[in-house]
Amino acid sequence: MGGSGISSESEEQKKEKVVTNRFEALESQVMQCRVKELRRQEIVKETVRCFGCGEKGHKKWECSKKKERRRKEETAPSREVWKKVK
Ligand SMILES: [Zn+2]
Repeated sequence: MGGSGISSESEEQKKEKVVTNRFEALESQVMQCRVKELRRQEIVKETVRCFGCGEKGHKKWECSKKKERRRKEETAPSREVWKKVK
C-alpha cells in the first residue's frame, strides 16, 4: 500500500482544479452579466424614445433639448424686437 501518497497529491491537484474551475465559472458568469447588461443598455437605447423631442436613445427626464427649448423661448422675444426694428 504505497500508492496512497500519489493519490493524495492528485487529490490536491483536483482541489486546485475545482477552485480554478469555480473561479473561471465565476468570471464567465460576471462576463455574461456584463454582456447582458451591455446588451440590455443597447436594447434600451434602441427602444427608448424621448417624449420631449421624439428622439431615440434617451428618456424625457434625460432630455438635453429641454434646456435648449427654454433658451429659444428666452431668445424669442429679442427676435421680435429685431423684426420691429426692421
Ligand atoms: Zn429628448
